[in-house]
Amino acid sequence: MILFCGSLTYATETIAPHNPIKIAVDATQVMQRILHAKLVFPVHTGPLTLYYPKWMPADHSPDGPIWNLANLRFFAGSREIAWRQDDVDMYAFNLVVPERVTLIEASLDFLISAPGPTIDFSASGGANLFILMWNQVCLYPKGLPVADIVFDPSLTLPSGWKFSTSLPVKDQTGPAITFAPVSLELLVDSPVQSGEFMRVFPLNAAGEPLQELDVMSDDAWALDIPPELIDQYKRLVKEARILYRSRHFRDYHFLLTLSDNVMELGQEHHESSDDRVKQRTIVDPSARLLMAGLFPHEFSHSWNGQYRRPEGLATPDFQQPMKGELLWVYEGLTEYLGAVLAARSGLLSAVQSREHIALVASTLDHRAGRHWRSLQNTANAAQILYFSVPEWQSYRRGTDFYTESVLIWLEVDATIRKLTNNRKSMDDFCQIFYAGHEGEPVIETYKFEDLVSTLTGIARNDWASFFRDRLDATDQGAPLRGITASGWQLVYNDAPNEMLEAEDSVSGLGDFTSSIGLRIKQDGSVVDAIPGMPAFESGIGPYMKIVAVNGHQFSLDELKRAIRSAKSEPAKILIDVNNVGRIKSHAIDYHEGSRAPHLDRLKDTIDYLDEILRPRAVAHEP
Ligand SMILES: [Zn+2]
Repeated sequence: MILFCGSLTYATETIAPHNPIKIAVDATQVMQRILHAKLVFPVHTGPLTLYYPKWMPADHSPDGPIWNLANLRFFAGSREIAWRQDDVDMYAFNLVVPERVTLIEASLDFLISAPGPTIDFSASGGANLFILMWNQVCLYPKGLPVADIVFDPSLTLPSGWKFSTSLPVKDQTGPAITFAPVSLELLVDSPVQSGEFMRVFPLNAAGEPLQELDVMSDDAWALDIPPELIDQYKRLVKEARILYRSRHFRDYHFLLTLSDNVMELGQEHHESSDDRVKQRTIVDPSARLLMAGLFPHEFSHSWNGQYRRPEGLATPDFQQPMKGELLWVYEGLTEYLGAVLAARSGLLSAVQSREHIALVASTLDHRAGRHWRSLQNTANAAQILYFSVPEWQSYRRGTDFYTESVLIWLEVDATIRKLTNNRKSMDDFCQIFYAGHEGEPVIETYKFEDLVSTLTGIARNDWASFFRDRLDATDQGAPLRGITASGWQLVYNDAPNEMLEAEDSVSGLGDFTSSIGLRIKQDGSVVDAIPGMPAFESGIGPYMKIVAVNGHQFSLDELKRAIRSAKSEPAKILIDVNNVGRIKSHAIDYHEGSRAPHLDRLKDTIDYLDEILRPRAVAHEP
């Protein structure tokens, strides 16, 4: 097989594909935020191209952090080999293997950073904890699918550190761990969590495959997970078994890191999830409430996204661009199923789940950008939207294929129930679509047509038009018909929305989306202003700073008071704004008071939503 790179031709025979590539990671200097790695490639004489992973499966983006690669060197025995980064593809390194050389050793360092205001996957370690993402220290030969490249991985940790991972361990001597040989595809899918302070909580019932919560933090006190939360996670494992009736993992690890020193994320893998939240998340009631959907979402990905993956996201290696067109299924359906499982496992009450759906619906219904950018486009453009800043979020739109799809999949669920007299539902879809190979991870790809035909087999309907109408629309509000079809309606009143209050408490923002159309930091900095809504129409925009409200010094409480009292007064709300040094007054013509979103029961309709959110385990378990 011959592959082409620009005007040069490389023979894949330069690499000996059937011999494992050794990768040895030395994390003993991780407290200084440096990782060392050595890789040994079996090779033949001739030109060789090695890739640094670029498109990461769980990121849906070309964001492999190559900028933090340092001290890259290649050796044939003691002889150093020259290398050259490709002129166009920054993720490709070219070298020539000398005659009679059968092994090339690469050595490299990876520089760990601290979490910043934007996405930074290099922020993966601190003074006494660290999550190894193998793609950050890895090179692999061009020309072979990553499923066919076998690696022999090993890792040396700082003395006394514990670790957890879904990778099978072959051997351990003190801090030196050797893992069983594994395909590059699965290696990159298997992070290793390690640190000084760690606790393990089993979640599965006796006789079930191991499913456990592995908690790590910078301090021992943070590992005291309340028993009722462990009980809810046990119920999650049980409810997922009842919903999916299949498993595509040998065992499963929720790798939870409670730390302010790593980037916050939830990243899905076949047999684990890399879940990182702030250290106080479990002890802060608001933060814990907002975390309720994290495990149900990431766990659901083991079925939706990992086992069943859209064709455009299942590329043969990490260099080929991905197509995000079905992210409204990969992420959107996962978000819906995650919300369902959060309720069924008791992580959210039915009331909190309805408040969550109301908030999603309200936020999306006030998206100014939906008049020019379809939901489908947010999925297609995911690779740029993930990295967009919060300013102008409403007009630009962000990765709305997560939240807006919750409304669409709720409508699918309610529609199936209506068409089948409540005999069938999305539960049936889960049991059919994710059935098949059990145990060791595999990927089964699908297309839009497969989704449509599975749904048609459950309830006859024009599902293709159903989805296209909602995905391609640019001239209407959020798709709210799922809420009404399931027996509820979106309403606004001055009672607080519990989920919105929690969001504001954790983020430190004031969210006035559904009243004057602003999102504001505590210091008055405007994060977002929604075109078409009163604040924007008065002349206020992102990056301005509100300094006074009706003649009083700005505070979020002062603005809330002004909005409330404007309901009974004809006067406009007067806002003084500092716009890069120029002070200007704006008059907001708004008199509807506080408007927080909620769901209200629609009289004389069937309450499908309550049925969807109801726990199932009680009926199945003695
Ligand atoms: Zn996800």
